[in-house]
Amino acid sequence: MATFKIEHDRPACIGCGACAAVAPEFWYMHDDGKSDIKGAKATKKGDEIILEELELDDLKNNMEAAEVCPVNCIHIFENGKKKI
Ligand code: SF4
Repeated sequence: MATFKIEHDRPACIGCGACAAVAPEFWYMHDDGKSDIKGAKATKKGDEIILEELELDDLKNNMEAAEVCPVNCIHIFENGKKKI
């Protein structure tokens, strides 16, 4: 199991673009105006993605992405413990 897990509470995303600006290696803006995590596992409810999850061993700048998110819809877990 990877050390870190990033979660994106996508329904809460307001599409400000901050995550994609600080961590473009991991985050990009989708056509519908919200952001996505590259290569994430998506959980859908009907047609809507309600959660994206990505596990990784090197967090890189994802903590910055979570910190700049104005609606706190990016969450980071380290060994199962929530950091933000
Ligand atoms: S910073 Fe937060 S609200 Fe802005 S696009 Fe990224 S996830 Fe969405």
